[in-house]
Amino acid sequence: MNTTVVDHIGIAVQDIEESLKFWEGALGIKCAGVETVEDQKVKTAFLPIKESEVELLEATSPESPIAKFIEKRGEGIHHIAIRVDDLESALSELRQKGVRLIDESPRLGAGGAMIAFVHPKSTGGILLELSQRQGSAD
Ligand code: ZN
Repeated sequence: MNTTVVDHIGIAVQDIEESLKFWEGALGIKCAGVETVEDQKVKTAFLPIKESEVELLEATSPESPIAKFIEKRGEGIHHIAIRVDDLESALSELRQKGVRLIDESPRLGAGGAMIAFVHPKSTGGILLELSQRQGSAD
């Protein structure tokens, strides 16, 4: 599998505007955009740090996985995402190795990326996202 960089770290927050006071105000990392992913019932804000990003995630509905996460565990790191060149082949490779997947096939994530989640049961307890960016197959 051709993994490249840590694409982003997803952080579950109660309130993006409030969190930006720290990320932008205190750390000086500029928010590059906010996007709502209807499918996941979340609003996301991207804060690029070189090739990687911090992704702040705020629930837009009580049924959002982010709302449930915060309810159970409080705000904090929700997932990490590793960028791959070819998500389809990465998934089939993991399947062959007996890794438990949440998403059996790629789906559209924020920023136009194709993503798939790997189950924490197979990763030592973290939610892992694999992400393939448009135009990143080089
Ligand atoms: Zn993510």
